[in-house]
Amino acid sequence: MPRPLVATIDIAALQFNLAVAQRCAPHSKTWAVVKANAYGHGLARGMRGFAAADGLGLIELDGAVRLREMGWQKPVLLLEGFFEPVDLKTVIDYRLETAIHSIEQIEMLEKGGIKSPVDVHLKMNSGMNRLGFKPDAFRAAYVRLRAIDAVRHITLMTHFANADDAANPALPLQEQVRRFNGATEGLAGQRSLSNSAADLLHPEAAADWVRPGIMLYGGTPGGRSAAEFGLRPAMTLASKIIGIQDVSIGDAIGYGSRFVAGKPMKIGVIACGYADGYPRHAPNGTPVIVDGVRTGIVGRVSMDMITVDLTPIAGARVGSAVTLWGDDLPIDEVAHAAGTIGYELMCGLASRVQVVER
Ligand SMILES: *Cc1c(COP(=O)(O)O)cnc(C)c1O
Repeated sequence: MPRPLVATIDIAALQFNLAVAQRCAPHSKTWAVVKANAYGHGLARGMRGFAAADGLGLIELDGAVRLREMGWQKPVLLLEGFFEPVDLKTVIDYRLETAIHSIEQIEMLEKGGIKSPVDVHLKMNSGMNRLGFKPDAFRAAYVRLRAIDAVRHITLMTHFANADDAANPALPLQEQVRRFNGATEGLAGQRSLSNSAADLLHPEAAADWVRPGIMLYGGTPGGRSAAEFGLRPAMTLASKIIGIQDVSIGDAIGYGSRFVAGKPMKIGVIACGYADGYPRHAPNGTPVIVDGVRTGIVGRVSMDMITVDLTPIAGARVGSAVTLWGDDLPIDEVAHAAGTIGYELMCGLASRVQVVER
């Protein structure tokens, strides 16, 4: 028997959440974002779950090739574009669309001697200051791209820093939209702006394309709950109790003796640790469900195990069912308790965890 730790991926939830994303932006086409192995859910599962999307977007060139090899016929977009001149052959051979965020990429295209048409997504740095051309350099980049024979469609693209946080004064979404609209005025091409947070919270920003990621997996970008938006968890991480210890007042649990019992307690040991992707920094009290009852972890997360308080769960025994996140326990809640975000937990699911589908 393998370890009892299993991640179950709900393909119907992926389909359902995509439909939610599409309903939020009914006049837009949708790039379903499947980077990072479909946020840890598996690229092939993402491809099946998002069969109704207009295209799939990702970062990894090898993943893009795999999508084609698995039979995905619709558009594939490289969200960071290509990195080396040799990548251009892959872009052409596999009919990939590519973001263009730097002069270096434009130079590679100019020198690439490309014969087949390529569709590009010119990225503006509208204030986030990661990738892209500043508004005042955008038009020149566009003109230079337009002069390359092989370049066919140019989509105009930017990315929001605070779509989930309307109160952030440093860079409101509306300011990014204003800069984007100002610098793209009169330029031919489709527009692509919204991530999940914008798709959910700013329907007015939806343009020709939206690019949802996290919401498709049943997570939310901001502090609100996924259920509030009608999203369903796509990944449930479940395990079992594999050991039980009865401890007395003053007994300490696990490495560093972080937790010391203040009363007689029953402690359960769960087969799941940080080598499986569970956050090592999860504090005492981080929620876990055992036999349908909510309890909390006690003591440090170790590589292969977590310890939980079973005192309030009368019938708990070796073999009791455990939910780490997913059904009835939102991944965002666990992430919040551990000082991180649902994205990181999903993406961090370790390769040693058995994955099944339902
Ligand atoms: C990851 C990514 C997205 C999706 O973001 P979510 O917050 O997961 O919805 C959209 N656009 C780009 C360019 C990305 O890299």
